[in-house]
Amino acid sequence: MRITGISVFRKDLRLEHPYRLSGGRLEFAVLDATFVRIDTDEGLVGWGEGTPWGHTYVPAHGPGIRAGIETVASFVLGLDPRRTLDVERAMDLALPGHLYAKSSIDMACWDIAAQAAGMPIADLMGGGSRNPAPIASSIGTTTIGETRKVMDRYRARGYAAHSVKIGDDPAKDIERIRDVEAHRPPGERILYDVNRAWSRQQALRVMKATEDLGVMFEQPCETLDDIAAIRTLHAAPVSIDESLVTLQDAARAAREGLAEVFGIKLNRVGGLTKAARMRDIALAHGIDMYIMATGGSVLADTEALHLAATVPDRNLLGVWSCQDMLIEDVAEGRGPRNMDGHLQLTETPGLGVAPDAAALGLPVATYG
Ligand code: MG
Repeated sequence: MRITGISVFRKDLRLEHPYRLSGGRLEFAVLDATFVRIDTDEGLVGWGEGTPWGHTYVPAHGPGIRAGIETVASFVLGLDPRRTLDVERAMDLALPGHLYAKSSIDMACWDIAAQAAGMPIADLMGGGSRNPAPIASSIGTTTIGETRKVMDRYRARGYAAHSVKIGDDPAKDIERIRDVEAHRPPGERILYDVNRAWSRQQALRVMKATEDLGVMFEQPCETLDDIAAIRTLHAAPVSIDESLVTLQDAARAAREGLAEVFGIKLNRVGGLTKAARMRDIALAHGIDMYIMATGGSVLADTEALHLAATVPDRNLLGVWSCQDMLIEDVAEGRGPRNMDGHLQLTETPGLGVAPDAAALGLPVATYG
């Protein structure tokens, strides 16, 4: 089997409610999504998606994805998409780094490989749990009143896991954490996500002031060095995600004991092929995981769900359903959807969901 064509589509995915990131990063209301269709000489078609969570969240940029695909396309054409390692190496040779720009091609190749094998991607990766995965909400940085309102909106849809974004003024963060904890129903899982916004002293101030609550913080500071520097000075469990980009990051964090939890985001780490190695490092070091897209439609959510299914249930803390935050639905209700706060893998071979041609319009670029 050979890759004969790569088509790139661009689409604005509007958020139902505008979203505010911590640390003075912009409020945004639209995601710049790139969809990739890979055609083969045997008629199988695979779909990939690359949708950054705005362009201020991490170094990932909608136009950068499309430029990256333009750069690697000629190196990928002609390869066998089932040989995902060959495709990965060809892309890494053609364009070192820029992992986020290459993940949609990796995703489309896995879609084709699993269709060819007649099984869901998770099973081709070695076997996937059929237990529904808990979805974590994503609650933007905002006021106490607004936080309560948004969390209740998610609870009404069945969500029992939440990622509450903090990283504002430390005093306000402490107040907001205490309020959320005071209203937390039994059994809910809540992660306080700083998104890198605190300096070391700010992080210590909040983490020490909330030690009696035993809450977990995600990405409290900008870098792994920052997180390491304060590691022995507080008692809170830590999750890392934005600092978890390469396999070397995962190896360091595991070896040095910098985090109890990895937030693996497929688009950021370069797709399923690379993320699967991080999963194995995590499992080998007793590190639990959230597995998510950086954002996007049901396609991106489903890709993450396949990898999440390959994590033992007891080590999977949650997935994300960014689709629940969007106005546009590119697949008209098909694929895994929120069911009482969970996503369930389907038995359809491959990724298991493709966009409607009408939803994407004409490609903005074609190769091959
Ligand atoms: Mg996070």
